[in-house]
Amino acid sequence: MNSAINHGRFLKFDFIIIGGGIVGISTAWQLQRSSDRIRVLLLEKESFVARHQTGHNSGVIHAGVYYEPGSLKARFCREGAQATYDFCRENGIACEQTGKLVVATSDIELERLHLLYRRCLENGLDPEMLGPVELQELEPAISGTGAFLVRESGIVDFPGMCHVMLEQFRQAGGTVRLNTEVTGITEHDDKIIIHAKPGTFHASGLVVCAGLMADRLARLQGLGQDFRIVPYRGEYYRLRPGLNGLIRHLVYPVPDPALPFLGVHLTRMTDGTITVGPNAVQGWKREGYGVLNFSLRDTAGMLGWPGFWKASARHFRHGIREIRNSLWKARYVNEISKYCPSITADDLEPHPAGIRAQAVTRDGTLLHDFLIERTPRSLHVCNAPSPAATSAIPIGRHICDILSGNHSTLG
Ligand SMILES: Cc1cc2nc3c(=O)[nH]c(=O)nc-3n(C[C@H](O)[C@H](O)[C@H](O)COP(=O)(O)OP(=O)(O)OC[C@H]3O[C@@H](n4cnc5c(N)ncnc54)[C@H](O)[C@@H]3O)c2cc1C
Repeated sequence: MNSAINHGRFLKFDFIIIGGGIVGISTAWQLQRSSDRIRVLLLEKESFVARHQTGHNSGVIHAGVYYEPGSLKARFCREGAQATYDFCRENGIACEQTGKLVVATSDIELERLHLLYRRCLENGLDPEMLGPVELQELEPAISGTGAFLVRESGIVDFPGMCHVMLEQFRQAGGTVRLNTEVTGITEHDDKIIIHAKPGTFHASGLVVCAGLMADRLARLQGLGQDFRIVPYRGEYYRLRPGLNGLIRHLVYPVPDPALPFLGVHLTRMTDGTITVGPNAVQGWKREGYGVLNFSLRDTAGMLGWPGFWKASARHFRHGIREIRNSLWKARYVNEISKYCPSITADDLEPHPAGIRAQAVTRDGTLLHDFLIERTPRSLHVCNAPSPAATSAIPIGRHICDILSGNHSTLG
């Protein structure tokens, strides 16, 4: 077993990873297993891992339907889906290849559906186009003007994956420090020093995967000047237990191409329940999951960022619609009843929300792609939006390649 070198006042490692979400854990796990001579430390501020985005999401293994063909996001998603199925099957983690339907309910959506279908083909998937009758034969509760089926999509227990990876990381000699919040980073020519509450740690290299806090950690090193993390709440409901058999596949609407969100969908979870959601409403606290949670620091930082106002103006109508849907359950139901007409407000029970860490640039662009920033001794994952949970294994592998000098850049 490797152990850190104790220099009295501080512990010295080869690499430190900040962030116990799936991206940080996957990176730490692969880095530690790449050599039994290196010492890797994972720092997480919470008392357990997968506490934030990784533990508050839809649990979908995305197949790679939506992403720009040839992009890193498209490649990582395809590789990540396969790697996720393989990892879960090898380690007895709940997962199932359910398949997914994307359903159009209007002429404009039908047009977009055909474009999306072509994109699937360009991304190497094998979708099956369905007419309204075939759709209803496959899923009697669902109706639309057309749909396609993607067989590669599925569901998984992402926190379960994290716990197994973390255990394997420890067995390979890695060290985990929970309840340890990083508050300062100082980089020197020969080392990097991490100041945390509690403790000081030295390392040769640093990887930061801090999700909703990515910009704050980046700014500790003078990076992240061109974006801020803006929290978008993803609110869910759960169908009442009597409806757990309503659908066999995941059912998605056709997304608005102007937005990086996929629309309110029906998702079978690995525990047998069906969630409805998520929407995308403005959050006022980065890690606050209650409807009324508010942070003065988070809100002031957001309002002081020019990109926030530009993005809000650009997506004003969509934002207002999302707020209305959030406030009135009956309106929320309309988002689903257009493709699942039998669902009523009485069928929806409460389910915890998630919060997306969305990087927004100074000019108001919501970044769809991964964003990495670097200093000589550190690498910051600044934007890791969906499907980063699906893609976590190839993202971690790629970061390991960069650290070992096989790649000079991630994008
Ligand atoms: C509502 C919603 C639905 C989604 N659905 C899907 C889906 O179905 N499929 C999919 O593939 N993706 C989905 N995603 C996206 C996916 O969940 C994220 O892309 C992924 O979890 C990001 O992982 P992460 O490790 O980067 O961040 P996180 O999981 O947020 O982890 C970051 C960690 O860093 C820690 N941290 C932060 N600051 C510090 C500090 N100063 N010191 C120490 N630790 C720190 C945090 O406590 C946290 O544990 C969804 C996201 C949301 C919000």
